Amino acid sequence: MYQKSRAWAELNMDNLSHNVEQMKSYLAKNCRLMPAVKANAYGHGILPIAKALNKLGIYDFCVAAASEGVTLRKAGIEGQILVLGYTHPQAFPLLSQYDLTQTVVDVPYAKSLASYGQKLKVHISVDTGMRRLGVRSEHLSSILSFWEYPNLSITGLYSHLCVADSLSPIDIQFTLMQFQRFDAIINALRQKGISGFATHIQSSYGFLNYPEFHYDYIRPGIALYGCNSLPSDQTRLDLSLRPVLSLKARLGSVRPLLPGESAGYGLTYTAACPMIIGTASIGYADGIPRSLSGKGSALIRGRRAPIIGRICMDQLLLDITGIPGAAPMDEVVFIGASSFTQNGQPFSDEIRAEELALQSQTISNEILSCLGERLERIESTR
Ligand SMILES: *Cc1c(COP(=O)(O)O)cnc(C)c1O
Repeated sequence: MYQKSRAWAELNMDNLSHNVEQMKSYLAKNCRLMPAVKANAYGHGILPIAKALNKLGIYDFCVAAASEGVTLRKAGIEGQILVLGYTHPQAFPLLSQYDLTQTVVDVPYAKSLASYGQKLKVHISVDTGMRRLGVRSEHLSSILSFWEYPNLSITGLYSHLCVADSLSPIDIQFTLMQFQRFDAIINALRQKGISGFATHIQSSYGFLNYPEFHYDYIRPGIALYGCNSLPSDQTRLDLSLRPVLSLKARLGSVRPLLPGESAGYGLTYTAACPMIIGTASIGYADGIPRSLSGKGSALIRGRRAPIIGRICMDQLLLDITGIPGAAPMDEVVFIGASSFTQNGQPFSDEIRAEELALQSQTISNEILSCLGERLERIESTR
């Protein structure tokens, strides 16, 4: 099969390795990375990313669903795999069969896990303020009672921060309170003589904004992939992280659009002057948000081609009037860099996932994790 024939995601594994090294260099001595590889490793491809991380010496992962853990195990991924989300009791056999560590999402769920009939590895989630999952941090006696279940092997205790990306005073205050509540639980457990559990609370922004807080793991997702959530995001720890993923497609067809003619579904775009338009072989089913219709652009030969008309499921239209020579088979870059030299003149530009996110009123996390199944994932190294 030909590679790069229609639409693909290029994974720069050198950049992944660089990001891992960058983060490691700011970690406390005994703190390890537990990368979030949920949602197909934020669209990058769960297997290529997890395999690369294993090679980089990382043996702890977090996923959202037990099925993602099963995918990792079936591909031979070694180490600890923590399921961050809810798993239905009917799927508990997967937890033991594939050696997955399950999150205890609340008190009734602990009972349900404990009565499954086989010993299960778990991390206890503590709700320090997000009010999504976990046992409320003031319910110490409930948390303590989990150690009385013989079938729960409690290997971790964790929480999640919900405003760690914001540096407004009120959000900093809230985050510090979350850390405080988490520490109080840890200390209370240790005072009762309970040990042997690992602790973690920071994801990307929790680490980048609060690097002075030290636990056994951090759980980075978006930062590991070299992105911020939004272009405007500033963090206290300013690492030089590099995007791992580029998103590319082919220019399939080039044609004129005559003055007064309209193009695409709904004929929403009308040419005011003679134009050249190009059809790119990628659409919203591949992860280009349909809300980007009439907004945003792609790079061809180092220059920007505006997206015109409505984005289709599998294709979209670009205004390539300003890119002389643009031709079928040209690479069209939606995320990543493009450079080209024409008549001795160099052109180069870059589009970051954060830019796409801003234009479609979301965050890069959503853009990346919604990248389509049918994109080829191609690994590149320098
Ligand atoms: C998704 C997720 C992470 C990773 O988050 P990033 O912001 O991408 O670093 C960490 N912990 C939990 C509980 C999550 O759901």
